[in-house]
Amino acid sequence: MRYSGLKVITQGLFGNAGWKPAWRDPAPKAQYDAIIIGGGGHGLATAYYLAKNHGLSNIAVLEKGYLGSGNIGRNTTIVRANYFLQGNSEFYSHSLKLWEGLESDLNYNVMHSQRGLINLFHSDGQRDAFARRGNMMISQGDDAELLDREGVRAHLPYLDFEQTRFPIYGGLLHRRGGTARHDAVAWGYARGADRRGVDLIQNCEVTGIDIENGRVTGVQTTRGAIKAKKVGIVVAGRSGQVAAMAGLRLPIESHILQAFVTEGLKPVIDHVISFGMGHFYISQSDKGGLVFGGDLDFYASYASRGNLPMVEHVMEAGMTLMPMIGRAKVLRSWGGIMDMTPDGSPIIDRTPVEGLYLDAGWNYGGFKAVPASGWCMAHLMATDQSHEVARRFRLDRYLTGHLLDEEGTGSQHNLH
Ligand SMILES: Cc1cc2nc3c(=O)[nH]c(=O)nc-3n(C[C@H](O)[C@H](O)[C@H](O)COP(=O)(O)OP(=O)(O)OC[C@H]3O[C@@H](n4cnc5c(N)ncnc54)[C@H](O)[C@@H]3O)c2cc1C
Repeated sequence: MRYSGLKVITQGLFGNAGWKPAWRDPAPKAQYDAIIIGGGGHGLATAYYLAKNHGLSNIAVLEKGYLGSGNIGRNTTIVRANYFLQGNSEFYSHSLKLWEGLESDLNYNVMHSQRGLINLFHSDGQRDAFARRGNMMISQGDDAELLDREGVRAHLPYLDFEQTRFPIYGGLLHRRGGTARHDAVAWGYARGADRRGVDLIQNCEVTGIDIENGRVTGVQTTRGAIKAKKVGIVVAGRSGQVAAMAGLRLPIESHILQAFVTEGLKPVIDHVISFGMGHFYISQSDKGGLVFGGDLDFYASYASRGNLPMVEHVMEAGMTLMPMIGRAKVLRSWGGIMDMTPDGSPIIDRTPVEGLYLDAGWNYGGFKAVPASGWCMAHLMATDQSHEVARRFRLDRYLTGHLLDEEGTGSQHNLH
């Protein structure tokens, strides 16, 4: 069923009785051409582009819970292309372009809102660093504007500009940055993949990876064995555990990142604001809740919940930046399991096992990467070649030392 405004109106007039489920609920087949382990944003996007760009349809996505139950439905929804290093910048630039056409491509409203992102700076040295970052963004073909203090004040008059610890000197404005509704992205890709014949199999945990003579032959699951010539591991925070099923030890640590949402308020914040020195970022959802987060919990864990010292740290940072936030009531908080790499950059690569591919290491920035990650992982699985915008995301950089070290990322960024 194709969605449209007319459809919404006519369904509304007739009691909304004509909607059909957005995707099927098939039983797993005995064999597929390709299996994607993980029904998060990256896994669903990979399946979608394998079908759309490469004409494969005998594909299954195996998800141990329900679609969108992982980080894709837990993030703070920020979409941007403001990376500094070559290798990252062309990839995220490609991703933002895909975001800009995503709703019409998927025929699905993911509520992509390019409301502008402002990264604040608080010293002359930081201003220089952001000027360089802005120049890199512009030379990549993306947008960036350096704002002085009054320029920031014109956009965000409610911030505390005179705070003694981190007085605001200015900010880097990225107008094409913004937000999108996170679970709608999973649903949109799921529906698009299903319409192209992909089997989306929920409540199907992969418990083993079958390998014969160095080549993958299929997977073991809680719903039986399934054969496949190609298997992609796309499980975000569980990457280390699933890769271990194939005897691989990854350069990844899993850490918890928390997020918070307040009660619904009238429109007050119409940008995404990033306060790096305080480890705090915030935007307002279309329902009115202030959505914000901070730093990692800083101990390795597979628990999808956070600890109280980090809650306190995030609240302090919010109060420092915009004291008015103290009047809002926090409604919910939650945590997600982040697949942190030592250099803070991802991996989209083949593994030493033939036919087994890895898409992982998205740290706390993988939501914005969903379209390009799916695009590039599908390219890799279909052609056995890295896509040109993901050619630096190889596993062997940890052997050769050619790291892609974006400042302030990685599992131990306090040690950088
Ligand atoms: C609090 C928080 C805030 C964030 N904020 C942002 C942000 O603002 N912007 C941004 O760009 N990024 C952000 N991120 C990061 C982003 O959400 C993740 O990097 C990204 O969602 C990870 O990829 P995914 O969507 O495929 O992961 P997931 O949705 O976690 O998908 C992986 C799936 O694999 C499944 N799985 C695991 N093991 C198995 C198995 N054995 N068998 C079958 N299935 C399995 C899981 O159940 C899960 O559904 C944030 C993350 C968190 C937690």
